[in-house]
Amino acid sequence: MQYDAVVIGAGHNGLASAIHLAKAGWKVAVVESASQAGGAVKTVEATLPGFRHDLGAMNLSLFAGSAFFREFQSDLLAHGLEFVPATRTFSSVFPDGGWLGVDQDIDKTVASISVFSEPDAARWREMATEFGSDAPHIFSILGTPMPSWALLKVLYQAWRTKGRTWCLDTLRLILSSPREFLDEHFESKEVKALMAAWGMHLDFAPDVAGGALFPYLESMASQSFGMVLGKGGAATIVRSMTSFLESLGGEIHLSATVIQVNLEANVATGVKLADGRVFNAKRAVIANLAPQALFGRLVPNAAVPSGFSRRIRSFKYGPGTMMIHLALSDLPEWRASSALKTFAYVHVAPYLSDMAQAYNDAMNGLLPASPVIVVGQPSAIDPSRAPDSQHVLWLQVRVLPGKIRGDAGGTISAMDWAGAKEAYADRVIEKLTSYAPNLPGTILDRAIYSPTDLEQDNPNLVGGDNLAGSHHLRQNFLFRPVLGWSRYRMPIEHLYMVGASTWPGAGTGAGSGQLLGKMLSQK
Ligand SMILES: Cc1cc2nc3c(=O)[nH]c(=O)nc-3n(C[C@H](O)[C@H](O)[C@H](O)COP(=O)(O)OP(=O)(O)OC[C@H]3O[C@@H](n4cnc5c(N)ncnc54)[C@H](O)[C@@H]3O)c2cc1C
Repeated sequence: MQYDAVVIGAGHNGLASAIHLAKAGWKVAVVESASQAGGAVKTVEATLPGFRHDLGAMNLSLFAGSAFFREFQSDLLAHGLEFVPATRTFSSVFPDGGWLGVDQDIDKTVASISVFSEPDAARWREMATEFGSDAPHIFSILGTPMPSWALLKVLYQAWRTKGRTWCLDTLRLILSSPREFLDEHFESKEVKALMAAWGMHLDFAPDVAGGALFPYLESMASQSFGMVLGKGGAATIVRSMTSFLESLGGEIHLSATVIQVNLEANVATGVKLADGRVFNAKRAVIANLAPQALFGRLVPNAAVPSGFSRRIRSFKYGPGTMMIHLALSDLPEWRASSALKTFAYVHVAPYLSDMAQAYNDAMNGLLPASPVIVVGQPSAIDPSRAPDSQHVLWLQVRVLPGKIRGDAGGTISAMDWAGAKEAYADRVIEKLTSYAPNLPGTILDRAIYSPTDLEQDNPNLVGGDNLAGSHHLRQNFLFRPVLGWSRYRMPIEHLYMVGASTWPGAGTGAGSGQLLGKMLSQK
């Protein structure tokens, strides 16, 4: 079969690139090993019939704010994309009965913060106000190829508009750890915990340099724009993208695992599937894959320069994640306040010290004694995800060891995830029960995906790292995936890498798919 481009993997970045190319008239095929498209964006009845669980991403704010969505909004909506806005975005709950929540109505957020600190409430309002003029510059940097002339132009614009001090302060923000940034601006440990929890969505524990930007951006963006969920599940973005791609003549082949990228004289000429089929590509083979899922597996290490191969082998993954999906007869009754039932996310960490400890445990191979939990309550915002007056709960347990060396809690003896996952899920439920005592009595069914299960479902999630690679400074910006190769082109002609392991990293923002798609379609 002869194509202009073959895309390996129907993650949303692969699909975004494919759409750009099909729109430019290229004949495109996407080959996906799973039986459904979407990669880390899938909605499935993982527990009982009628309970629709987002197996991976739940929060689609990055997609809704993306350049890709801006460019193809009307097509995607015509192909069935439906969002549900959440005005009560994220919150944190504390063991002494305190809680904090970010409501798009800033007066309500500020009132919630002023219970803990009047100066922090004032600083939050000030920061959110400044964000209006700061955000366009920061988002432009994140949406620009790295490095590029376009980036220099964006930086020059920021310098001219905002001035030298703002630029240097922003650089300082980018280099800071969450704790350094939060200590500089806030006094209350609860407000610091509220923002720092966002760092834990990536691998930015409170004391990791380069971790301040994400908590700042997610907090201020949630305050300013709210949060966006998919109607009926996050898979709405994938369904609309695949339908749009097919309407442009693109093909999507499911249950089609690529086992080899075919090479001729250092040019990628197509792919070979496990079932023996060959898809030839005249102009591009695009791998929506993590580095180690591509090099050493589909492309022999000997086919690339040894320096490149060494860098690829040292690409580092972040700690693992466990997902627990619950079918519930009712939402958790949060002891701190019933208002917490109305927020999309409730972070249960609770404080910076807990986040730092859990991260340290995970990095040392230990199951954290006290898990860091992101509680997603999508059916509180979008009731279509569960049968009448029932609910789904999306529990993301962050920072876990991919390989278990022991248990910081001292009660789990299993040294692999197959043996440990039920017991660890019990620990998670037990912790949540201390905040919402009705929880155990409401559980109708549960589905648990350990870090190992996540990797089995999608080989990009090495060690259960839901972000397909650490986002620490040494591996971000122009170092992602490796220095010298941050613009998607690989050292084999016609071979490109796209997706969460490439700039601008993980999340549903379709950033790399958009940037590569534009680069190739304008060639
Ligand atoms: C549990 C979890 C929760 C998350 N929560 C959020 C969230 O709430 N908000 C957010 O913005 N982001 C979230 N993320 C991150 C975000 O979902 C991912 O970063 C993003 O979806 C990755 O997209 P991608 O385009 O890189 O490809 P992927 O989603 O990784 O897809 C790659 C595809 O390639 C396929 N593939 C791999 N190898 C082969 C092969 N050899 N042959 C054929 N196909 C192959 C895989 O099956 C997969 O379908 C979450 C991720 C996970 C896992």
